[in-house]
Amino acid sequence: MGHLTARGHELTPKPEEADVIVVNTCSFIDPAKQESVDTIIEMGRYKTEGKAQRLVVAGCLVERYRGDIRADLPEVDAIVGTNEVDRIAAACEGLPLDAAPAEPYLYHDLSPRVFSTPRHFTYVKIAEGCDHPCTFCVIPQFRGKMRSRRFESVIAEAERLFSQGVREINLIGQDTTSYGEDLGLRDGLAALMGRLARIETPFAKWIRTLYVYPNRISPALLETIAANDSLVKYIDMPLQHASGNVLKRMKRGSNGDFFLKILERIRATIPGVAIRSSFIVGFPGETDADFEQLCQFVQAAKLDRVGVFSYSDEDTSASYHLDGKVDARTIYNRKRRLQSIQRRISRANNRKLVGREFPVLVEGPSSETDLLWEARMTTQAPEIDGVCYINDDNGLPIRPGEIRVLRVTGAHDYDLVGEIVDAPEAAPPPPAPPLFPILSSHSTALISRGQ
Ligand code: SF4
Repeated sequence: MGHLTARGHELTPKPEEADVIVVNTCSFIDPAKQESVDTIIEMGRYKTEGKAQRLVVAGCLVERYRGDIRADLPEVDAIVGTNEVDRIAAACEGLPLDAAPAEPYLYHDLSPRVFSTPRHFTYVKIAEGCDHPCTFCVIPQFRGKMRSRRFESVIAEAERLFSQGVREINLIGQDTTSYGEDLGLRDGLAALMGRLARIETPFAKWIRTLYVYPNRISPALLETIAANDSLVKYIDMPLQHASGNVLKRMKRGSNGDFFLKILERIRATIPGVAIRSSFIVGFPGETDADFEQLCQFVQAAKLDRVGVFSYSDEDTSASYHLDGKVDARTIYNRKRRLQSIQRRISRANNRKLVGREFPVLVEGPSSETDLLWEARMTTQAPEIDGVCYINDDNGLPIRPGEIRVLRVTGAHDYDLVGEIVDAPEAAPPPPAPPLFPILSSHSTALISRGQ
C-alpha cells in the first residue's frame, strides 16, 4: 500500500469503486489457499460486471503456485510474489515487470508504508525468512533464509512511529529470537529491545515481541524484558507439541519436561509475565499416548493463552511424506479436548484478576456492540488474544489510543470486563488518519485474504 500511494494511487477497500484490484494472498495451509482462490475468482467478476480494468494477485499463493495461477486463472493480469513487493505499482499500471530481484525483499525504515492497523498500534518486521527445518512448515520455501533488518533501521522506524502517535509496537519475524545472528550480533533481540525501550516518548509506550523460538530464549532477553517498563511482560513462544516423539518428527526437538523448565525460568525472571503458545494436533504419527502427553503438559504449564491448530497436510511440506496420518475426526476431537482444557485454565486465570487494576490501551468502540468499548492489557496481544470490555467510564471521557487504568469487574473464559478509574491523559494523542484516503478516479482496492 505504501508503494502504491507513493506512486500517486489512491486506495479504497471497495472493489466496486476500483480501477485495479489487488488480492493479497496467503497459502500457509489449505483453508487459507481456498479462501485466497475464492477471493480471486470473486474479484475477477468486477472486471466484467464492475469498473475494474486489472486484477493483480500478490503474496504467498504466487510464490507457491505461480504457474497454476497463470494457467488456470485467466482473469488475473499480473502476479507479484513476496520477494517482488517493489513491482506492485508497475503490476497495477500494466507496465512491463523488471527481471526478478536478485535479493529477497526486506523492507527498511525508508520503505513507504500505509498502515491497516489503528494508529495507536502497529507491527514492525525485524527479520524475514527462517533457517529452522520444521517439517510441517512451508514458510522457509517462500520466505528464504533468515535475514535481519539493520539495527539502526528498526530504531529509526520505531522512533518515527512513536513520534507519530503509535503507542504499541509489536516486533515480528518468523523467528524473532534469531534476530541479528546474520549481522554478527550476539543476543541481537535483547539488544534491540533494550535500545527500543530507551526511545523517549511523551506518553507511555508498549513494545512486544512475538514468535520467539523456545530454545533460543536467552537469559539476556528475559532480563532485558524484566528490567524495562515499556517492554511488556508477555512471551509468545509457539511450542507446537510436548511429546518428544512428535517434536522429533517435526524436526523441532526437545520435549515437555524441557519446556516446563523454560517456563519456570521465564516466570522466575519476569514476575507477572503472560505466556502464549500454540500447538498442532494430529501431526503424522501422533498416537493417543503422544496426545495424552500434550494434554498433561498443557494442564501442567498453565499457560495464559493457547492457540490450537489442526495439522494441515501440505503437499510441499516434508511432513506430507511421513506415515501415520491421523484421520480428520480424531484431529477434530483432539483439538476440542485441548481447547476445553485450556478454556478452564484461562477462566480460572481471569477470575483471579477480578478486583485488580491494570493499565490498558483503549482500542475504541467494541466491534461486538455499540454499548461497550474495548481495551487491551499489556498481557493481551492485538488481534489474537482476548480483550477487556469497558462497561463503565465512571463519567471520565475516554479516547482510542490512550493508556488508562481499568479495574476488572468481571471475567469470561478469554475476555475481561471492567471500568475506567483514572482521569484522561493530559493531551489527546494525535488523531488517527483515515484508513484509506479519499477516492479519486484512479483507485486501487486491496483485498487481503486467507491470513
Ligand atoms: S520456526 Fe516457524 S517459520 Fe520457521 S520453519 Fe519452524 S514453524 Fe516455520
